[in-house]
Order: sequence, then structure tokens, then C-alpha cells
Amino acid sequence: MRTHYRRILLKLSGEALMGNMSYGIDSEVVKKIAGEVAEVIATGVQMAIVVGGGNIFRGMKAASAGMDRATADYIGMIATVMNALTLQESLERIGVQTRVQTAIAMQEVAEPYIRRRAIRHLEKTRVVIFGAGSGNPFFTTDTTAALRAAEIDAEVIFKATKVDGIYDADPEIYKDAKRYQSLTYAHVLAQDLRVMDSTAIALCKENNIPILVFDLTVHGNIHRAVMGEAIGTLVGG
Ligand code: UDP
Repeated sequence: MRTHYRRILLKLSGEALMGNMSYGIDSEVVKKIAGEVAEVIATGVQMAIVVGGGNIFRGMKAASAGMDRATADYIGMIATVMNALTLQESLERIGVQTRVQTAIAMQEVAEPYIRRRAIRHLEKTRVVIFGAGSGNPFFTTDTTAALRAAEIDAEVIFKATKVDGIYDADPEIYKDAKRYQSLTYAHVLAQDLRVMDSTAIALCKENNIPILVFDLTVHGNIHRAVMGEAIGTLVGG
């Protein structure tokens, strides 16, 4: 069956790898995600992944506790590399070819980020995992996802979360909260809906990259999203 998308960028937050733990990496959860990625890759779709680091270290939090912000952010970026390598290991164990590229050079453990090389890997249906964020402090991995998606010409960003889309009110508090099927970038920015940070949304808007927000904890959802099923909320023009 034909997939709806040809090249996608999946944004996995650090928390997505944490499962129900309060810190770190739950290897069972990573294994599950890897299995779903493998299923999608088998359809011939090209996938790049930007992985966060919030399950290990968050620059902002350390900075508000007194640490120099830039230093804290560099630590945060290095944390994302731990997640990237963990994901790589899990994917390769089930036969998915991967490459990790980092925005901060760590030649002993990963390739440096080279745009044209990343695209070449994708064309060979290798999963390219981008680590170390954008390489710049004061940014987030959501913004990195928007940046890399634009650079590699991804058709869509899959923003995997723990809720099944964007609601008009917090669904955990308001039982009658309604899920939007689609939303405009302008609406997300104006209403300050916390899908991704505003820098990331603005970058997607400028480059016309739609964002599909969906629940990663439902088994098979990455595949459903790739096939174009109407899950989650699609943010676009
Ligand atoms: N970070 C950064 N620049 C980037 C990306 C990330 O400085 O381009 C740092 C920042 O400190 C952030 C941490 O890395 O708190 C982890 O990334 P993020 O919070 O975006 O991860 P997620 O929320 O997706 O788990």
C-alpha cells in the first residue's frame, strides 16, 4: 500500500523514552518505539529522527537553579546524544540501518551533521538520528526538528506526544475538551498552544512544514500517521 508521506521527520522528546519513570531511559519503551519505526521503514518511507534530552537534563531548569545558561544547554545537548545512541542501538538490533549525526562533533561515537550526507543516508532508507540539538544553546530540540525538517526537505514533522492531539482545553482537567483535527500555525501562535515552542512553529510556518501531533503511546500510531490516517491534530497553513 502506498504511504501518504515519502520523507518524514519524527520528533521524539526525551520524555517519550522515559515511559513511566521519572528520569532516564526505559529500555522496554525504546524497544517498542524501535519496533514501530522498523515497521514504517519497511514501507520504504524515509525517516529522520530528532531526539530530545529532557529525560536526562534540561538546560532551562539547571539555569533557573543558578547554572550558567549556555553551559547548562550544552549539557542538555550532550544528554540528547545519549538518547540518540540508545535509539540507534535498539534499531540496529532489529536490523534497521541507522546513522547518528551530531551537531556537536563527537567523531568517536557519531558522524558530524552534514546535510547532504544525511539526505544520502535517507535515500538509502537508513534512519538518520540527529543528536546534540542544533548545536546552539538557547534553542530546543523542537526548534531543531523544524530546522532539520526544512534542511532535509521533509514533508511533515511528526510530533509524538502522550496525548492524541491538540485540545481546546486541557483534556486531563476538562472532560468535555475537544480535539482539533487541524489548526493553523497562526492559531497555535496566537493562542499560545504549547505544541512546540514558538520559534519552532514560526520556522515551520515560514517553510510550510506541517506538524502532526499525535499519541505515541498508542501502538501502531507512527504507521497510521505515515499512511495518512486522520489521527491527532495537523498544524499547517
Ligand atoms: N538544547 C540546546 N540547544 C538545542 C537543543 C537542545 O541548548 O538546539 C538543550 C536545552 O538545554 C534543552 C536540552 O538540550 O533543555 C534538551 O532538549 P529539549 O528540552 O528540547 O528536549 P525534550 O523536551 O524534547 O526532551
